Amino acid sequence: MLDIAIIGAGPAGLSAAINGVIRNKKVIVFGREPKSSYLYKAEKVDNYLGMPNISGPKMIEEFLNHAKKLGVEFHEGRTLEVFPMGNYYTLNVENEFFEAKTVIIATGIPKANYIPGEKEFLGKGVSYCGTCDGPLYRGKTTMVIGEIEEAEEDVNFLQEICDKVYFLPTYKEIKHVSPKVEILKGKPKEILGDNFVSGIRIDDKELKVDGVFLIKETVPVTQLIKGLEMEGKTIKVNRRQETNFPGVFAAGDCTGRPFQVTKAVGEGAVAALETVSYLHKMDIEKK
Ligand SMILES: Cc1cc2nc3c(=O)[nH]c(=O)nc-3n(C[C@H](O)[C@H](O)[C@H](O)COP(=O)(O)OP(=O)(O)OC[C@H]3O[C@@H](n4cnc5c(N)ncnc54)[C@H](O)[C@@H]3O)c2cc1C
Repeated sequence: MLDIAIIGAGPAGLSAAINGVIRNKKVIVFGREPKSSYLYKAEKVDNYLGMPNISGPKMIEEFLNHAKKLGVEFHEGRTLEVFPMGNYYTLNVENEFFEAKTVIIATGIPKANYIPGEKEFLGKGVSYCGTCDGPLYRGKTTMVIGEIEEAEEDVNFLQEICDKVYFLPTYKEIKHVSPKVEILKGKPKEILGDNFVSGIRIDDKELKVDGVFLIKETVPVTQLIKGLEMEGKTIKVNRRQETNFPGVFAAGDCTGRPFQVTKAVGEGAVAALETVSYLHKMDIEKK
């Protein structure tokens, strides 16, 4: 059982990780590749104390090196859901399961663009992971909408088990997709169905499908942990970075403005220190 599971390997998650490890806690950072951090997009950062005139990619590399030097463990993959289990949490990381006493959410700016029908049919024909839920669609027709290149793994897997697979990539360049997959262009307008998905509308064309897989950069935080209290589009926290779930903290852009590295790093540190206090309280209560 982990002491602290950190979701997101940007400045907030990495800052939380080093502070957790320094305090002797068993920590794993569940994140995606460094390029996926918003910081990677910054050409030049000149407002972070002690690192003048540095590029975003260099800065994230320095943060990662620091974390690795201190022995922070990483597990690459998208965390799809966090399940409260009483006095601990279980994380589903692309169908690998991890248990942790506490969780720090550091997933960056919430990108909550839903397709009409997505929320309603989630778990009823809509899924965020092809390799996890694909087997439910054996011999059926599915559609994958991919925001990121990792979607190709889901597409190729589904192609092996489904009767027909459509793929609508919304990123730039397709790399390795089976020629049996039908590639589409256009904008997904609505997921259709009654009790379960029966189709999808792309622009003004309707396609019959049994399942829709949305492979997104990040899972909406409200899906990540059901019942998480929000303030508009961002996670509601207090000055201790506590959310409404005991033992779940949040830090960085996911808690709101200002969207700045200093704030993300600061909140990550606060979240880790508060997590450590929480763990100590848990230990005392057990004795
Ligand atoms: C073009 C640009 C220029 C900028 N310039 C500056 C600047 O000059 N100064 C400044 O202070 N700030 C700047 N920023 C803002 C800064 O980059 C962010 O404030 C900072 O990166 C926030 O850190 P974070 O850790 O909260 O989120 P992020 O850095 O976005 O990291 C979040 C990480 O979590 C991962 N993640 C999300 N969901 C999941 C999931 N379900 N499972 C696993 N991993 C997940 C993401 O893939 C990402 O890697 C700039 C941003 C941009 C885009």
